[in-house]
Amino acid sequence: MTISSLLENCVVLARRKVVAGIASLLAAPACVRLPVPTDFDAIIIGAGVAGLSAAHALATKGRRILVLEARSRIGGRAWTDANSLGVPFDQGAHWLHNAEHNSFTQLARDKGLALKVADTSDRQLYCAGKALSDENATLRMNKATSDLERRMFIPSILPRDSSLAPFLSGDEWRDAMIGIAAFSLGAQPDRISFEDFLSLEDGEERTVSGGYGALVAAVFKSVPVRLDHRVALVDWHHGNRIAVSGQWGSATARHVIIAVPPTVLASGGIRFSPDLPQAKAEALGKFTVGQFLKVGFRFEGMGNRLPEYHADICRLASGNLEMLVADQFDPVLTLIASGDLASELARQDIAGRRAYAIERITQTLGKNAAGRLGAVISYDWAADPLSLGSFSAVRPGAGNARRKFAQPLQGRVHFAGDAAPGPFATTVYGAHLSGLRAARQTERELAR
Ligand SMILES: Cc1cc2nc3c(=O)[nH]c(=O)nc-3n(C[C@H](O)[C@H](O)[C@H](O)COP(=O)(O)OP(=O)(O)OC[C@H]3O[C@@H](n4cnc5c(N)ncnc54)[C@H](O)[C@@H]3O)c2cc1C
Repeated sequence: MTISSLLENCVVLARRKVVAGIASLLAAPACVRLPVPTDFDAIIIGAGVAGLSAAHALATKGRRILVLEARSRIGGRAWTDANSLGVPFDQGAHWLHNAEHNSFTQLARDKGLALKVADTSDRQLYCAGKALSDENATLRMNKATSDLERRMFIPSILPRDSSLAPFLSGDEWRDAMIGIAAFSLGAQPDRISFEDFLSLEDGEERTVSGGYGALVAAVFKSVPVRLDHRVALVDWHHGNRIAVSGQWGSATARHVIIAVPPTVLASGGIRFSPDLPQAKAEALGKFTVGQFLKVGFRFEGMGNRLPEYHADICRLASGNLEMLVADQFDPVLTLIASGDLASELARQDIAGRRAYAIERITQTLGKNAAGRLGAVISYDWAADPLSLGSFSAVRPGAGNARRKFAQPLQGRVHFAGDAAPGPFATTVYGAHLSGLRAARQTERELAR
């Protein structure tokens, strides 16, 4: 069934309802707009930040686009859950990385939303549950960071796609710094590539009132998206058209932008006919299921008076990748686990995750804090078949997998997402830039 036949059915249904006098049940206006085209300049698969950015750019150029999204909402891994805790909670992306150079900072300002600098000095560090004095901790942290940098930047010490494991030294502080980098990429140091580590952005981070996911949804509100339209097959040898289909029907276009995570593609989440070339398939297999698991609590009473970050240096150094984060706008306290710990927690049900988080909060902040915890929420992105992980990090030994991921096929099948190469890879802003890049490639070809 094609989109147009699907919508024609919808019109018939709507007319029957009119006949029956059930005016209030009239179908949505989209159902009566006929004829509905099934051939487009470009089809964009996935309405995460990358797909939405590409779609918005092409629509602005007047191109006929179709955006297909499997979920019932837009935003993908940028998702603010407004209901579960009674206040906004970012189930996915939360920090605007390198905020000075990240266009979402200006977009938030344009919408009149408040931003707060996520100040990494607004933190309390611990070792084995004991709070460390800030002065001492800062000194040791700075020394460890400069030691590590000196070691890392000895010319050609290691290939860029080696892991971070060779930099572990047994020095608690230095290993903790590596732990923090690994935490940010969602995997243990031996599964993080040096290259990805180098691409982590240093600049200022900010959080936005109402949540990052809500900001993304507001920015791209005007992009027309077909929700609940999961793509099953991309047939890219269809004359000069590419055919895209799923249970909803099929449509064709001159170009397709595939903006779904590489982990989803590698698992066969979308079939290709003919199969993807071997180099592309191999590149897809080199991305890890970077795992970041949040256990968020409604936290009344002391949320805004707490430092934002609470990290146990000794636990991080020994590979327990976790932090407590106090939201700067809303009464929310979140335990964030990463890497193996996140995978371990993901195997537990919500009661198990809650119990673990309460134990850690009690050990870190005391019984008084634990007594203030209310409703709890936790989402497992690795088990979600539409994301299969949190970040598109690459495995050590992956060579230039990011570049190969982003390379178009025959100049008409394009790939976008946080897996694409660039300084902001694995982030919302990186996904945005890659969507714009794919739109530019598409526009160039269409204009020929
Ligand atoms: C817990 C967590 C915390 C994070 N924290 C931050 C942070 O603080 N700051 C930051 O910048 N980044 C963060 N990230 C990373 C950031 O969310 C991602 O890098 C970014 O959102 C990726 O966007 P994308 O468009 O590439 O992919 P996605 O957002 O995954 O979008 C892909 C879309 O494709 C859809 N799709 C999949 N398969 C199909 C199909 N067959 N048919 C149709 N549609 C399909 C999906 O439903 C999804 O909507 C975090 C991620 C997670 C999970």
